[in-house]
Amino acid sequence: MAIFERDTEIYRDRDALREDYQPEELIGRDTELEQYKTALQPVINGEQPNNIFLYGKTGVGKTAATRFLMEHLEADAARYDDIDLTVVLLNCDGLSSSYQIATRLVNEFRDDADQISTTGYPRASVYDMLWQELDSCGGTVLIVLDEVDHLEDDSILYQLPRARANGNLSNAKIGIVGISNDFSFREELSPKVKSSLVEEEIHFPAYDAGELIEILQQRASVAFHDGVMTDSAIKLCAAYGAKDAGDARQSLDLLMKAGDIAREEDTDTVSEDLVRKGRDALERGRIQEGIAGLTQHGHLVLYALVTLESEGETPVRSRDVRPRYSTFAKKAGIDPLVPRRMRDHLSELTMLGIVSVTERNEGRRGGTYREYTVDMDLELVVSAMEDTVETVGLHSSLADRAGTGSGTETTIADFDGRT
Ligand code: ADP
Ligand code: MG
Repeated sequence: MAIFERDTEIYRDRDALREDYQPEELIGRDTELEQYKTALQPVINGEQPNNIFLYGKTGVGKTAATRFLMEHLEADAARYDDIDLTVVLLNCDGLSSSYQIATRLVNEFRDDADQISTTGYPRASVYDMLWQELDSCGGTVLIVLDEVDHLEDDSILYQLPRARANGNLSNAKIGIVGISNDFSFREELSPKVKSSLVEEEIHFPAYDAGELIEILQQRASVAFHDGVMTDSAIKLCAAYGAKDAGDARQSLDLLMKAGDIAREEDTDTVSEDLVRKGRDALERGRIQEGIAGLTQHGHLVLYALVTLESEGETPVRSRDVRPRYSTFAKKAGIDPLVPRRMRDHLSELTMLGIVSVTERNEGRRGGTYREYTVDMDLELVVSAMEDTVETVGLHSSLADRAGTGSGTETTIADFDGRT
Protein backbone atom coordinates (compact mmCIF):
# COMPACT_ATOMS: atom_id res chain seq x y z
CA MET A 1 0.00 0.00 0.00
CA ALA A 2 1.25 3.47 -0.82
CA ILE A 3 2.05 5.74 2.07
CA PHE A 4 2.02 8.82 -0.14
CA GLU A 5 -0.80 9.53 -2.44
CA ARG A 6 -1.17 12.50 -4.68
CA ASP A 7 -3.56 15.03 -3.27
CA THR A 8 -4.78 17.57 -5.80
CA GLU A 9 -8.31 18.37 -4.80
CA ILE A 10 -7.68 21.87 -3.50
CA TYR A 11 -4.80 23.18 -5.56
CA ARG A 12 -4.39 23.34 -9.27
CA ASP A 13 -0.94 24.88 -8.85
CA ARG A 14 0.10 25.58 -5.28
CA ASP A 15 3.48 26.94 -6.39
CA ALA A 16 1.68 29.95 -7.84
CA LEU A 17 1.31 31.22 -4.29
CA ARG A 18 5.01 31.09 -3.60
CA GLU A 19 7.37 34.02 -3.49
CA ASP A 20 9.20 33.16 -6.70
CA TYR A 21 6.11 32.93 -8.89
CA GLN A 22 5.92 35.67 -11.47
CA PRO A 23 2.33 36.73 -12.30
CA GLU A 24 1.63 37.36 -15.96
CA GLU A 25 -0.01 40.65 -15.26
CA LEU A 26 0.35 43.17 -12.47
CA ILE A 27 -2.80 44.52 -10.92
CA GLY A 28 -3.31 48.18 -10.07
CA ARG A 29 0.20 49.32 -10.88
CA ASP A 30 -0.44 51.15 -14.15
CA THR A 31 0.86 54.51 -12.98
CA GLU A 32 4.02 53.07 -11.45
CA LEU A 33 4.69 50.82 -14.44
CA GLU A 34 4.24 53.77 -16.77
CA GLN A 35 6.75 55.83 -14.79
CA TYR A 36 9.14 52.90 -14.63
CA LYS A 37 8.82 52.31 -18.36
CA THR A 38 9.50 55.95 -19.13
CA ALA A 39 12.58 55.86 -16.92
CA LEU A 40 13.88 52.85 -18.88
CA GLN A 41 13.12 54.30 -22.32
CA PRO A 42 16.70 55.57 -22.94
CA VAL A 43 17.82 51.92 -23.06
CA ILE A 44 15.71 51.29 -26.13
CA ASN A 45 16.84 54.58 -27.63
CA GLY A 46 20.43 53.42 -27.32
CA GLU A 47 21.18 56.24 -24.92
CA GLN A 48 22.96 56.25 -21.61
CA PRO A 49 20.39 54.73 -19.17
CA ASN A 50 18.98 56.60 -16.19
CA ASN A 51 19.75 55.51 -12.70
CA ILE A 52 16.47 54.65 -11.04
CA PHE A 53 15.52 54.43 -7.41
CA LEU A 54 12.43 52.43 -6.45
CA TYR A 55 11.04 52.42 -2.97
CA GLY A 56 8.01 51.21 -1.01
CA LYS A 57 7.26 48.83 1.87
CA THR A 58 7.71 45.08 1.48
CA GLY A 59 5.18 43.19 -0.57
CA VAL A 60 3.98 46.09 -2.72
CA GLY A 61 5.20 44.64 -6.01
CA LYS A 62 8.62 46.28 -6.49
CA THR A 63 10.43 43.07 -7.36
CA ALA A 64 7.52 41.71 -9.38
CA ALA A 65 7.27 44.94 -11.41
CA THR A 66 11.02 44.94 -11.99
CA ARG A 67 11.14 41.35 -13.20
CA PHE A 68 8.15 42.01 -15.40
CA LEU A 69 9.60 45.11 -17.07
CA MET A 70 13.12 43.71 -17.38
CA GLU A 71 11.82 40.67 -19.24
CA HIS A 72 9.95 42.91 -21.65
CA LEU A 73 12.88 45.25 -21.98
CA GLU A 74 15.21 42.40 -22.87
CA ALA A 75 12.78 40.96 -25.38
CA ASP A 76 12.07 44.32 -26.98
CA ALA A 77 15.71 45.38 -27.04
CA ALA A 78 16.53 42.21 -28.96
CA ARG A 79 14.53 43.62 -31.87
CA TYR A 80 17.07 46.39 -32.39
CA ASP A 81 20.40 45.36 -33.91
CA ASP A 82 22.30 48.23 -32.43
CA ILE A 83 21.30 47.49 -28.84
CA ASP A 84 23.22 44.95 -26.85
CA LEU A 85 21.50 44.80 -23.47
CA THR A 86 22.60 42.84 -20.41
CA VAL A 87 20.51 42.89 -17.24
CA VAL A 88 22.00 41.73 -13.95
CA LEU A 89 19.60 41.23 -11.04
CA LEU A 90 21.20 41.03 -7.64
CA ASN A 91 19.41 40.77 -4.32
CA CYS A 92 21.50 42.42 -1.62
CA ASP A 93 19.97 40.47 1.26
CA GLY A 94 23.01 38.92 2.91
CA LEU A 95 25.41 41.23 1.09
CA SER A 96 26.18 44.01 3.51
CA SER A 97 29.19 45.67 1.93
CA SER A 98 30.07 47.28 -1.38
CA TYR A 99 32.98 44.88 -1.54
CA GLN A 100 30.68 41.85 -1.44
CA ILE A 101 28.46 43.34 -4.10
CA ALA A 102 31.41 44.11 -6.34
CA THR A 103 32.73 40.55 -6.08
CA ARG A 104 29.28 39.13 -6.74
CA LEU A 105 28.98 41.33 -9.81
CA VAL A 106 32.39 40.28 -11.11
CA ASN A 107 31.33 36.66 -10.73
CA GLU A 108 28.05 37.28 -12.56
CA PHE A 109 30.11 38.06 -15.66
CA ARG A 110 32.58 35.22 -15.28
CA ASP A 111 32.42 31.49 -16.03
CA ASP A 112 32.24 29.01 -13.20
CA ALA A 113 35.92 28.22 -13.57
CA ASP A 114 36.93 31.84 -13.19
CA GLN A 115 35.05 32.94 -10.08
CA ILE A 116 36.81 35.04 -7.46
CA SER A 117 36.45 34.50 -3.75
CA THR A 118 34.46 36.99 -1.71
CA THR A 119 37.41 37.85 0.50
CA GLY A 120 41.08 38.48 0.15
CA TYR A 121 41.38 41.07 -2.60
CA PRO A 122 42.01 44.75 -1.98
CA ARG A 123 38.86 46.69 -2.73
CA ALA A 124 40.50 48.71 -5.49
CA SER A 125 41.48 45.58 -7.38
CA VAL A 126 37.97 44.16 -7.14
CA TYR A 127 36.66 47.37 -8.65
CA ASP A 128 39.29 47.11 -11.40
CA MET A 129 38.12 43.60 -12.19
CA LEU A 130 34.55 44.86 -12.27
CA TRP A 131 35.37 47.65 -14.76
CA GLN A 132 37.16 45.11 -16.92
CA GLU A 133 34.21 42.73 -16.91
CA LEU A 134 31.75 45.50 -17.64
CA ASP A 135 33.82 46.86 -20.49
CA SER A 136 34.39 43.50 -22.09
CA CYS A 137 30.66 42.82 -21.81
CA GLY A 138 30.05 46.18 -23.45
CA GLY A 139 26.74 47.52 -24.71
CA THR A 140 24.16 48.61 -22.18
CA VAL A 141 24.38 46.98 -18.77
CA LEU A 142 21.54 47.42 -16.27
CA ILE A 143 22.47 46.46 -12.76
CA VAL A 144 19.47 45.95 -10.50
CA LEU A 145 20.33 46.02 -6.81
CA ASP A 146 17.22 44.73 -5.05
CA GLU A 147 16.83 45.27 -1.29
CA VAL A 148 19.74 47.66 -1.52
CA ASP A 149 18.93 48.89 1.99
CA HIS A 150 20.95 45.94 3.32
CA LEU A 151 24.05 47.72 2.15
CA GLU A 152 26.01 49.31 4.98
CA ASP A 153 28.41 51.45 2.99
CA ASP A 154 27.58 53.30 -0.17
CA SER A 155 30.92 53.18 -2.02
CA ILE A 156 29.58 51.01 -4.84
CA LEU A 157 26.55 53.25 -5.22
CA TYR A 158 28.93 56.08 -5.90
CA GLN A 159 31.45 54.19 -8.01
CA LEU A 160 29.07 52.47 -10.42
CA PRO A 161 27.13 55.51 -11.64
CA ARG A 162 30.33 57.52 -11.98
CA ALA A 163 32.48 54.84 -13.57
CA ARG A 164 32.21 56.32 -17.03
CA ALA A 165 32.79 59.89 -15.94
CA ASN A 166 35.81 58.75 -13.95
CA GLY A 167 37.29 57.11 -17.01
CA ASN A 168 36.99 53.59 -15.65
CA LEU A 169 34.76 52.48 -18.46
CA SER A 170 34.91 53.22 -22.15
CA ASN A 171 32.64 50.69 -23.84
CA ALA A 172 29.82 49.86 -21.48
CA LYS A 173 26.90 52.13 -20.66
CA ILE A 174 25.83 51.39 -17.13
CA GLY A 175 22.47 52.01 -15.48
CA ILE A 176 21.68 51.22 -11.86
CA VAL A 177 18.27 50.33 -10.52
CA GLY A 178 18.26 50.50 -6.71
CA ILE A 179 15.25 49.02 -4.92
CA SER A 180 14.61 49.71 -1.26
CA ASN A 181 12.00 48.58 1.26
CA ASP A 182 13.00 51.39 3.50
CA PHE A 183 12.57 55.00 2.55
CA SER A 184 14.95 56.26 5.21
CA PHE A 185 17.73 54.51 3.28
CA ARG A 186 17.41 57.15 0.60
CA GLU A 187 17.43 59.94 3.17
CA GLU A 188 20.61 58.63 4.69
CA LEU A 189 22.56 58.43 1.45
CA SER A 190 25.34 60.95 1.20
CA PRO A 191 24.44 63.89 -1.07
CA LYS A 192 26.93 62.89 -3.76
CA VAL A 193 25.54 59.36 -3.93
CA LYS A 194 21.98 60.61 -3.86
CA SER A 195 22.49 62.90 -6.79
CA SER A 196 24.01 60.23 -9.00
CA LEU A 197 21.88 57.27 -7.94
CA VAL A 198 18.49 58.92 -7.72
CA GLU A 199 17.97 60.34 -11.19
CA GLU A 200 14.50 58.89 -11.45
CA GLU A 201 12.53 58.02 -8.38
CA ILE A 202 9.46 55.81 -8.26
CA HIS A 203 7.33 55.21 -5.21
CA PHE A 204 5.22 52.08 -4.80
CA PRO A 205 2.43 52.82 -2.31
CA ALA A 206 0.79 50.17 -0.11
CA TYR A 207 -2.22 48.34 -1.55
CA ASP A 208 -5.71 49.01 -0.31
CA ALA A 209 -8.21 46.21 0.33
CA GLY A 210 -9.78 46.57 -3.14
CA GLU A 211 -6.44 46.12 -4.90
CA LEU A 212 -5.53 43.20 -2.68
CA ILE A 213 -8.85 41.51 -3.54
CA GLU A 214 -8.00 41.75 -7.24
CA ILE A 215 -4.47 40.48 -6.71
CA LEU A 216 -5.71 37.55 -4.64
CA GLN A 217 -8.48 36.72 -7.11
CA GLN A 218 -6.00 36.67 -9.96
CA ARG A 219 -3.65 34.38 -8.08
CA ALA A 220 -6.40 32.15 -6.67
CA SER A 221 -7.64 31.43 -10.18
CA VAL A 222 -4.22 30.03 -11.04
CA ALA A 223 -3.54 28.27 -7.75
CA PHE A 224 -6.89 26.75 -6.80
CA HIS A 225 -9.41 24.63 -8.63
CA ASP A 226 -12.59 26.39 -9.64
CA GLY A 227 -15.04 26.75 -6.81
CA VAL A 228 -12.55 25.94 -4.04
CA MET A 229 -11.80 29.47 -2.91
CA THR A 230 -14.84 31.43 -1.75
CA ASP A 231 -15.24 35.15 -2.38
CA SER A 232 -15.75 35.82 1.29
CA ALA A 233 -12.44 34.07 2.11
CA ILE A 234 -10.61 36.24 -0.41
CA LYS A 235 -12.20 39.37 0.98
CA LEU A 236 -11.17 38.46 4.47
CA CYS A 237 -7.55 37.78 3.42
CA ALA A 238 -7.50 41.15 1.70
CA ALA A 239 -9.01 42.90 4.70
CA TYR A 240 -6.31 41.48 6.97
CA GLY A 241 -3.66 42.41 4.44
CA ALA A 242 -4.89 45.99 4.15
CA LYS A 243 -5.02 46.32 7.91
CA ASP A 244 -1.50 44.96 8.36
CA ALA A 245 0.52 46.97 5.89
CA GLY A 246 -1.05 46.75 2.45
CA ASP A 247 1.38 43.94 1.76
CA ALA A 248 0.41 41.50 -1.01
CA ARG A 249 2.98 38.98 0.15
CA GLN A 250 1.33 38.56 3.56
CA SER A 251 -2.10 38.21 2.00
CA LEU A 252 -0.83 35.56 -0.42
CA ASP A 253 0.80 33.69 2.44
CA LEU A 254 -2.49 33.73 4.29
CA LEU A 255 -4.32 32.44 1.23
CA MET A 256 -1.88 29.55 1.02
CA LYS A 257 -2.16 28.80 4.72
CA ALA A 258 -5.96 28.66 4.46
CA GLY A 259 -5.64 26.36 1.44
CA ASP A 260 -3.26 24.10 3.35
CA ILE A 261 -5.69 23.85 6.24
CA ALA A 262 -8.48 22.96 3.82
CA ARG A 263 -6.27 20.21 2.49
CA GLU A 264 -5.44 18.92 5.96
CA GLU A 265 -9.05 19.01 7.06
CA ASP A 266 -10.22 17.41 3.86
CA THR A 267 -12.82 20.04 3.09
CA ASP A 268 -13.51 21.01 -0.51
CA THR A 269 -13.84 24.76 -0.12
CA VAL A 270 -11.86 27.42 1.65
CA SER A 271 -14.19 29.45 3.86
CA GLU A 272 -13.71 32.55 5.97
CA ASP A 273 -13.39 30.27 8.91
CA LEU A 274 -10.27 28.64 7.49
CA VAL A 275 -8.80 32.06 6.77
CA ARG A 276 -9.25 32.94 10.44
CA LYS A 277 -7.62 29.68 11.43
CA GLY A 278 -4.80 30.35 9.01
CA ARG A 279 -4.33 33.82 10.36
CA ASP A 280 -4.19 32.40 13.85
CA ALA A 281 -1.56 29.87 12.86
CA LEU A 282 0.60 32.47 11.11
CA GLU A 283 0.19 34.87 14.00
CA ARG A 284 1.20 32.13 16.40
CA GLY A 285 4.33 31.53 14.40
CA ARG A 286 5.14 35.20 14.35
CA ILE A 287 4.64 35.61 18.09
CA GLN A 288 6.69 32.54 18.83
CA GLU A 289 9.49 33.81 16.69
CA GLY A 290 9.35 37.25 18.27
CA ILE A 291 9.28 35.90 21.80
CA ALA A 292 11.99 33.34 21.14
CA GLY A 293 14.29 36.17 20.15
CA LEU A 294 13.93 38.04 23.45
CA THR A 295 16.40 37.96 26.32
CA GLN A 296 15.48 36.53 29.71
CA HIS A 297 14.66 40.00 31.03
CA GLY A 298 12.42 40.58 28.05
CA HIS A 299 10.59 37.36 28.91
CA LEU A 300 10.21 38.39 32.54
CA VAL A 301 8.88 41.83 31.66
CA LEU A 302 6.41 40.27 29.27
CA TYR A 303 5.36 37.67 31.80
CA ALA A 304 4.73 40.40 34.37
CA LEU A 305 2.60 42.31 31.89
CA VAL A 306 0.70 39.18 30.87
CA THR A 307 -0.27 38.41 34.45
CA LEU A 308 -1.37 42.01 35.05
CA GLU A 309 -3.42 41.84 31.88
CA SER A 310 -4.96 38.60 33.01
CA GLU A 311 -6.03 40.31 36.24
CA GLY A 312 -7.60 43.16 34.32
CA GLU A 313 -4.98 45.65 35.53
CA THR A 314 -4.00 46.92 32.09
CA PRO A 315 -3.37 49.44 30.63
CA VAL A 316 -0.62 49.77 33.15
CA ARG A 317 2.27 52.15 33.66
CA SER A 318 5.81 50.91 33.62
CA ARG A 319 6.26 51.75 37.32
CA ASP A 320 3.31 49.49 38.10
CA VAL A 321 4.77 46.65 36.04
CA ARG A 322 8.00 46.93 37.91
CA PRO A 323 7.11 45.32 41.28
CA ARG A 324 5.81 42.22 39.60
CA TYR A 325 8.73 42.08 37.20
CA SER A 326 11.15 42.36 40.13
CA THR A 327 9.41 39.56 41.97
CA PHE A 328 9.60 37.37 38.88
CA ALA A 329 13.26 38.20 38.36
CA LYS A 330 14.05 37.17 41.91
CA LYS A 331 12.08 33.97 41.42
CA ALA A 332 14.23 33.31 38.36
CA GLY A 333 17.35 33.98 40.40
CA ILE A 334 18.53 37.10 38.59
CA ASP A 335 18.82 40.75 39.56
CA PRO A 336 16.06 42.96 38.23
CA LEU A 337 17.13 45.71 35.84
CA VAL A 338 16.89 49.38 36.75
CA PRO A 339 13.57 51.01 35.71
CA ARG A 340 15.01 52.63 32.62
CA ARG A 341 16.37 49.38 31.28
CA MET A 342 13.15 47.62 32.10
CA ARG A 343 11.32 50.27 30.07
CA ASP A 344 13.61 49.53 27.12
CA HIS A 345 12.26 46.02 27.17
CA LEU A 346 8.70 47.32 27.12
CA SER A 347 9.61 49.39 24.08
CA GLU A 348 11.10 46.39 22.37
CA LEU A 349 7.94 44.40 23.02
CA THR A 350 5.98 47.28 21.54
CA MET A 351 8.10 47.26 18.43
CA LEU A 352 7.49 43.55 17.99
CA GLY A 353 3.75 44.23 18.10
CA ILE A 354 3.27 42.03 21.15
CA VAL A 355 2.51 44.97 23.43
CA SER A 356 0.73 48.20 22.59
CA VAL A 357 1.37 51.54 24.18
CA THR A 358 -0.83 54.57 24.76
CA GLU A 359 0.50 58.01 25.53
CA ARG A 360 -1.44 59.83 28.28
CA ASN A 361 -1.40 63.32 29.68
CA GLU A 362 -0.69 63.86 33.29
CA GLY A 363 -3.47 66.41 33.66
CA ARG A 364 -2.81 70.01 34.56
CA ARG A 365 0.87 69.55 35.25
CA GLY A 366 1.31 68.75 31.61
CA GLY A 367 3.64 65.75 31.66
CA THR A 368 2.95 62.63 29.63
CA TYR A 369 3.28 59.00 30.53
CA ARG A 370 2.80 55.69 28.77
CA GLU A 371 0.51 52.82 29.50
CA TYR A 372 1.01 49.31 28.24
CA THR A 373 -1.36 46.53 27.21
CA VAL A 374 -0.71 43.08 25.81
CA ASP A 375 -1.83 43.26 22.22
CA MET A 376 -1.99 39.55 21.54
CA ASP A 377 -3.98 36.59 22.62
CA LEU A 378 -2.77 35.81 26.15
CA GLU A 379 -2.86 32.07 25.74
CA LEU A 380 -0.75 32.37 22.65
CA VAL A 381 1.82 34.47 24.43
CA VAL A 382 1.91 32.22 27.47
CA SER A 383 2.32 29.13 25.32
CA ALA A 384 5.34 30.74 23.68
CA MET A 385 6.93 31.41 27.08
CA GLU A 386 6.91 27.91 28.53
CA ASP A 387 10.46 28.14 29.83
CA THR A 388 9.80 31.33 31.74
CA VAL A 389 6.57 29.99 33.18
CA GLU A 390 8.44 26.93 34.30
CA THR A 391 11.24 28.90 35.95
CA VAL A 392 9.05 31.47 37.63
CA GLY A 393 6.01 29.30 38.26
CA LEU A 394 2.50 29.56 36.87
CA HIS A 395 0.92 32.72 38.15
CA SER A 396 -2.41 32.39 39.92
CA SER A 397 -4.12 34.69 37.44
CA LEU A 398 -3.37 32.22 34.67
CA ALA A 399 -4.02 29.01 36.53
CA ASP A 400 -7.61 28.66 35.54
CA ARG A 401 -7.26 29.73 31.95
CA ALA A 402 -7.88 27.01 29.44
CA GLY A 403 -4.84 25.68 27.71
CA THR A 404 -2.31 26.78 30.27
CA GLY A 405 -2.08 25.12 33.69
CA SER A 406 -2.52 21.38 33.70
CA GLY A 407 -3.83 21.44 37.21
CA THR A 408 -0.84 19.67 38.65
CA GLU A 409 1.54 22.61 38.39
CA THR A 410 2.12 24.72 41.44
CA THR A 411 0.95 28.28 41.21
CA ILE A 412 2.68 31.31 42.58
CA ALA A 413 -0.27 32.98 44.25
CA ASP A 414 1.61 32.80 47.54
CA PHE A 415 4.20 35.42 46.74
CA ASP A 416 2.12 37.78 44.79
CA GLY A 417 -1.05 39.38 45.99
CA ARG A 418 -0.80 42.96 44.81
CA THR A 419 2.93 43.45 44.79
P1 ADP B 1 8.29 43.76 -2.94
O1 ADP B 1 9.43 43.47 -3.85
O2 ADP B 1 7.76 45.15 -3.05
O3 ADP B 1 8.58 43.39 -1.51
P2 ADP B 1 7.01 41.67 -4.42
O4 ADP B 1 7.17 42.18 -5.80
O5 ADP B 1 7.90 40.57 -3.99
O6 ADP B 1 7.05 42.85 -3.36
O7 ADP B 1 5.48 41.22 -4.24
C1 ADP B 1 5.07 40.33 -3.23
C2 ADP B 1 4.14 39.28 -3.79
O8 ADP B 1 2.93 39.88 -4.23
C3 ADP B 1 4.71 38.56 -4.99
O9 ADP B 1 4.27 37.23 -4.95
C4 ADP B 1 4.10 39.30 -6.16
O10 ADP B 1 3.98 38.43 -7.28
C5 ADP B 1 2.74 39.69 -5.61
N1 ADP B 1 2.29 40.95 -6.15
C6 ADP B 1 2.68 42.18 -5.73
N2 ADP B 1 2.10 43.15 -6.43
C7 ADP B 1 1.31 42.53 -7.34
C8 ADP B 1 0.41 43.00 -8.36
N3 ADP B 1 0.26 44.32 -8.56
N4 ADP B 1 -0.26 42.09 -9.10
C9 ADP B 1 -0.09 40.78 -8.90
N5 ADP B 1 0.73 40.27 -7.95
C10 ADP B 1 1.42 41.12 -7.17
MG1 MG C 1 11.26 42.66 -3.31
